[in-house]
Amino acid sequence: MKKKECPGCAMEVDADSDICPICGYEFPSQPLSIQIMAWVMAILLLLWLVF
Ligand SMILES: [Zn+2]
Repeated sequence: MKKKECPGCAMEVDADSDICPICGYEFPSQPLSIQIMAWVMAILLLLWLVF
């Protein structure tokens, strides 16, 4: 199971949990930059398939 560090209490929690079970810190969903990167990659892949 992947782990991530909670910025609220510095404890390791499950990477796919949205809220820290220890301190209740709410993790933000995917950072916007990663979403944009994913879209750019998808569009580039589409263009590459078409041409
Ligand atoms: Zn925490």
